[in-house]
Amino acid sequence: MCGIVGYIGEKNSIPILVEGLKRLEYRGYDSAGIAVISNDSKKATSIKSLGKVSKLEDKVEQTEIDLSSIGIAHTRWATHGEPSEPNAHPHFNKNKTLYLVHNGIVENYSEIKAKLTKDGYEFESETDTEVLVQLIDSFIKKGNTLLKSVRLAISEVTGTYGIAVISQTEPDKIIVAKKGSPLVIGIGNGEHFIASDVNALIGHTSRCIYLEDGEIVEVTKDKFAAHTIDDEDIKKEVEEISVELDAISKGDYPHYMLKEIYEQVNSVRDSFRGRILMDEGTAKLGGIERIAERIANSKRIVLSACGTSWHAGLVGEYMLEQFTGIPVEVDYASEFRYRNPIVDRKDSMFFISQSGETADTLAAMKEAKRRDALILGLCNVVGSSIARESEAGVYVHAGPEIGVASTKAFTSQLVVFALISVLVGRKRHLSLIDGQEILHELESLPKKIEQILKLNNQIEAIAEKFVNAQNFLYLGRGYNFPVALEGALKMKEISYIHAEGYPAAEMKHGPIALIDENMPVVFIAPKDSVYDKVITNIEEVKARKGRIIAIASENDTEIDKLVDYSIKIPDTIRMLMPILSVIPLQLLAYHVAVKKGLNVDQPRNLAKSVTVE
Ligand code: GLU
Repeated sequence: MCGIVGYIGEKNSIPILVEGLKRLEYRGYDSAGIAVISNDSKKATSIKSLGKVSKLEDKVEQTEIDLSSIGIAHTRWATHGEPSEPNAHPHFNKNKTLYLVHNGIVENYSEIKAKLTKDGYEFESETDTEVLVQLIDSFIKKGNTLLKSVRLAISEVTGTYGIAVISQTEPDKIIVAKKGSPLVIGIGNGEHFIASDVNALIGHTSRCIYLEDGEIVEVTKDKFAAHTIDDEDIKKEVEEISVELDAISKGDYPHYMLKEIYEQVNSVRDSFRGRILMDEGTAKLGGIERIAERIANSKRIVLSACGTSWHAGLVGEYMLEQFTGIPVEVDYASEFRYRNPIVDRKDSMFFISQSGETADTLAAMKEAKRRDALILGLCNVVGSSIARESEAGVYVHAGPEIGVASTKAFTSQLVVFALISVLVGRKRHLSLIDGQEILHELESLPKKIEQILKLNNQIEAIAEKFVNAQNFLYLGRGYNFPVALEGALKMKEISYIHAEGYPAAEMKHGPIALIDENMPVVFIAPKDSVYDKVITNIEEVKARKGRIIAIASENDTEIDKLVDYSIKIPDTIRMLMPILSVIPLQLLAYHVAVKKGLNVDQPRNLAKSVTVE
């Protein structure tokens, strides 16, 4: 969600800024803009555009702009004010000497706006952001430096922000500050890069510093100086980025989503690689090793997340309860904070987020911290806010996920939950043999995923039949109930077809009323202990003429007599089945969306890294 890019150095800033915005496109946005200061005249120029970065790029190419080696850029995901050119960032002061880009929400913007309006300020946009730039301007007018003006302004703000500010009055610096929205500074030779995530830095530099909440940094081409909001100096640690350019390019695939679906053969392996202690029938997870005992003695485990990660949490709940015997609850992070959650220091809480920046999950984590729970992160992006702010945690190691619809991060999250279940289970009642069985099965998954991916053409052909569907129902039981939810979410997200996931047995308590000859119903029906029950549900749908697609076991020939289409996948143990059964559903959603001509990687209104609440 929203991207910030900045550059200061010797090079031409414009191509760097535009390229940086392209790298952040995946986060989701509706408009884009840049502001630069000319090297010679020291005058600032800004260009904005509604829609894609490529439109901004065209506009930039058609405009004559002086050579500039300092600039800021932004992709906006509107929270206040419709997506439009005036509302796009950068925002500026009346004289157009001061420019600011912002990610987040200024919650008290109307108060600040009222105060500034009294002082004679006028506003050009409907955004909350514009008050920030005008507020900074008011402090500059009182004779303060840019750094101090930014500091004074953000001290008045409630809400969240990642900001980058440039000014003609001090044309050799960018001021950045962060609270609640991610910002990272890339360190080059005689140049600095600013970005909301490291993807924009890859290829420019591998050294960076991550800003923490409440920090404000003055960045020149050769130096950076970090301060607290109370003006104390801070020493920042330089970290190494390990992501390679290859990992964030599309390669030969038409879409990132398809690439990431195919990558699951390796990403699943990467998630358990080096983490299996077969002889001991347990897992080695360095990030939680020292507190594994405490987790094993928790009174309760709470899993908190949003979206696909929440679905992973539901599967995690089934696994952890089955193998550790500890009661588990799964909570929407967005709801957790707005009630009076009963958690205390005897609880272990896992916060699950692919990006590690999900604002709702971060906020839930802060609330849980206040209540002394053990705070654990389960993130994909290394160095992300949730990863850094948790006491301990496990990286899922899926590699960069660029497609907005999460695929490989989900299956990797499930691998990690399986490993945690084994690790904690072995400290409780899980036997050596049972631990080993799970681990052996885990090791066999990449081959099975390869087999499932060979069904791509078959799934594409099935998708063809459902391009005009208005609705989809997804049904599964036990471990495959969360998979039904995830399959439905994928379909909604990228094909804009209304889809619902339900526990198969719940169908008769409501959704069955929807079934007629036009309703596609996807059953996740592998041969497991609830198979016969699911078959009964299939019969119920068939009796009402629903169009049935079944995800079934490869040796199940009986099911073909009942269903319209069956997709046969290899077997595994029940707890790991979601890692396999979700893959055909990812492919189904993908092909339906592609056949509808939709933008699979950047579906409308959605953001990858949801950094606003
Ligand atoms: N709240 C700001 C706006 O609506 C920033 C949104 C963003 O993070 O992109 O313009």
